[in-house]
Amino acid sequence: MTEAELIDGQATAARLRQALKEDVQAFEAIFGVAPGLAAVLVGEDPASRIYVRRKGEQALEAGLQSFTYKLPVETTQAELLELIERLNADGRVHGILVQLPLPQHIDTPEVLKAIHPDKDVDGFHVVNAGLLATGRPALTPCTPLGCLTLLRERFPSLRGKRALVVGRSTIVGRPMAQLLLNADCTVTIAHRYSEDLPLLCAEADIVVAAVGVPGLIRGAWLKPGCVVIDVGINRVPANDPDQAAAGKSRIVGDVAFEEARKVAGAITPVPGGVGPMTIACLLLNTLSAARRQMERAPVQSALRPLEAEGCV
Ligand code: NDP
Repeated sequence: MTEAELIDGQATAARLRQALKEDVQAFEAIFGVAPGLAAVLVGEDPASRIYVRRKGEQALEAGLQSFTYKLPVETTQAELLELIERLNADGRVHGILVQLPLPQHIDTPEVLKAIHPDKDVDGFHVVNAGLLATGRPALTPCTPLGCLTLLRERFPSLRGKRALVVGRSTIVGRPMAQLLLNADCTVTIAHRYSEDLPLLCAEADIVVAAVGVPGLIRGAWLKPGCVVIDVGINRVPANDPDQAAAGKSRIVGDVAFEEARKVAGAITPVPGGVGPMTIACLLLNTLSAARRQMERAPVQSALRPLEAEGCV
């Protein structure tokens, strides 16, 4: 039995970052300034600190300017909104991201709404969500954009493919479905109340799982030869019982990987599939936002496929 091809997000992300670096140099040569990304972190959440640090490091590696704002957990909503206002007005900053989750006393939708839509490189502002939903160029959430890029490598044309998106969050599932619809797929969105998930999977040429339930999608449910994009990042106990007893864990996706790779034509591993694409797309969004704010720069190889897609 042949095994599914592994979709190497690490390699694709590295290629994107390299192409981006050249585009950033071209941008800087024209405008005399590098695109700037501001990351705002409120509180001490360890995972968020790691994400923000990685985003800053990768931004600098790509030649972007990186500004990090670390605020204490007791920061008030008014103080956070004031910082966002300053960043909205700051000409060095072309992209603003507020790391989620925010502390409970802060109204997250209000904060996301305060980011200027042109600087909303996470693509969470309702204006960008609306543009995407109406099939117009928008700053698009980074994880679904990464998934689309991986799919594009397999299918130069997605037209007419039957795509199933499992999960309907505003961060992943909904924008993913919109992107696939804009690419002329026939899209089904499943959620926790969907009936007969196995049947929905069996009909799909493309399955994107963004659920947060380890191994929910079983190999036997899949259509032979389909392409599986596993967005899930779930921490479960280590395989080895001694290590598990010692509190060691491992990361798995939303798809039962070993089963699925015996049926699918191609599949993203977890880790190493979708994950690395998310930051790469954040950096692309920052360049894209900077171009819009300055003017269109002539040399943009990394962005070209996304432009053709209307995603940037
Ligand atoms: P959310 O919790 O916001 O959304 C999960 C979605 O899955 C909901 O729409 C929910 O349905 C649906 N769902 C839950 N259980 C089931 C079920 N049994 N059957 C069908 N649908 C179900 O999660 P996110 O979208 O933020 O994230 C999803 C996963 O992706 C997580 O594991 C997260 O860690 C990972 N992730 C990975 C990223 C990356 O860079 N690789 C980035 C972002 C997220 P309902 O709406 O009905 O509740």
